[in-house]
Amino acid sequence: MESTKVLRTFGDFFTERGHHQITGSTLRPEPGDPVLFTTSGMHPLTPYLDGRRRHPQRRLTNRQRCLRTTDLEEVGDRTHLTVFEMLGSWSLGDYSHEQSLRWGFELLTEGFGLDRLYVTVFGGNDELGPDLDSERVWHELGLSVERLVDDNWWSNGPTGPCGPDSEIFVWTGDTEPEGTPSTDSRWVEVWNHVHMRFHRYDDGLLRPVTPPNVDTGMGFERLLMLLQGVNSVYETDLFEPWTEHVNRLWHPDERSFRLLTDHLRSSIVVIGDGVRPSNTGQGYVLRRLIRRCLTTLYRLDPSYGLEELPVEVIEHTTGHFGQPDDPGSIRELLLDEERRFRRLIDRGRDRVLRLHQRGPLTETDFTFLHETHGLPREVVESVLPV
Ligand code: ATP
Ligand code: MG
Repeated sequence: MESTKVLRTFGDFFTERGHHQITGSTLRPEPGDPVLFTTSGMHPLTPYLDGRRRHPQRRLTNRQRCLRTTDLEEVGDRTHLTVFEMLGSWSLGDYSHEQSLRWGFELLTEGFGLDRLYVTVFGGNDELGPDLDSERVWHELGLSVERLVDDNWWSNGPTGPCGPDSEIFVWTGDTEPEGTPSTDSRWVEVWNHVHMRFHRYDDGLLRPVTPPNVDTGMGFERLLMLLQGVNSVYETDLFEPWTEHVNRLWHPDERSFRLLTDHLRSSIVVIGDGVRPSNTGQGYVLRRLIRRCLTTLYRLDPSYGLEELPVEVIEHTTGHFGQPDDPGSIRELLLDEERRFRRLIDRGRDRVLRLHQRGPLTETDFTFLHETHGLPREVVESVLPV
């Protein structure tokens, strides 16, 4: 199933069940939001979910691009991207969590034809018992259930809406399914259904919310990977031009391919949403993404550079995300940032290597190089021998 058909199937399924399609926001939250980037489908809906605002609709669905700096270290595996899309559905005090689970099951099995599912539910702690209601529904649907504690308690900070969730996993092994989601990584998490039935107040106490909300988010690229029967999100049709050009240009090993593709693609989307490289906030995240990508590229071969990247790849990305920017100007911005990085490297190489001759660099060395010589960690690391 091609990516466009997957999007349509998801949207139609929830529209037919009375959901109002809303447009996702950009990666940049509204002014005043303390979070740097939109991290999930529910993020832009926070005021409606924590009761500050009332939405005119009670059933919503959308497609939202997200960026998680917390996943940067995971990039290189099969399933974590820095920028990814979440397909979401919400009941704002309308239908039950049980209904959401049943629809989730119906869409995955009948709509998308997936089988070999496993579900995890909240197993209880000293504050609250296990989520027996969800467990019962999943058992009625014939699924195996694993009880976990921390992984299945959703919250968005120390206070505010929270509650137990059910995470749906799909088997991706070549053999018959083995183990459980927590013991075998061939179970891939694809969809989370959160029962936002509590609010945690400043006094630390949990109080039920009436009526409760339901919030679900499914990873679009992971869903594609499962439906297209490929081994990683990078092998889906979404990444076709990337696979072709990055491999042809730079012949990377698998891990480098994934990092280069993820970081470049993410940088393009971030730039397309209006961020410019800088030393603070959103701009600094962008700068780090570009520099991590360049460090990987120069390790493959110091003569490689971003000027080799065809504009077509940028166009494909901004087209997919519906961004208006001219791909040529995004390319110029990337090249400018690369020139700045190369200048820093040229300036710092001798100094870093001299220090390194005395032995592996310590944290104090990194701080010294940064504070005294203006050489950030990424520059130092890109100069150090592997
Ligand atoms: P994981 O444990 O795999 O990191 P998560 O528990 O952090 O996932 P949620 O916060 O529940 O994920 O997000 C909902 C869905 O979004 C996940 O089920 C997954 O399909 C998708 N998702 C989350 N993080 C990423 C990512 N970094 N890249 C791609 N998809 C993601
Ligand atoms: Mg995660």
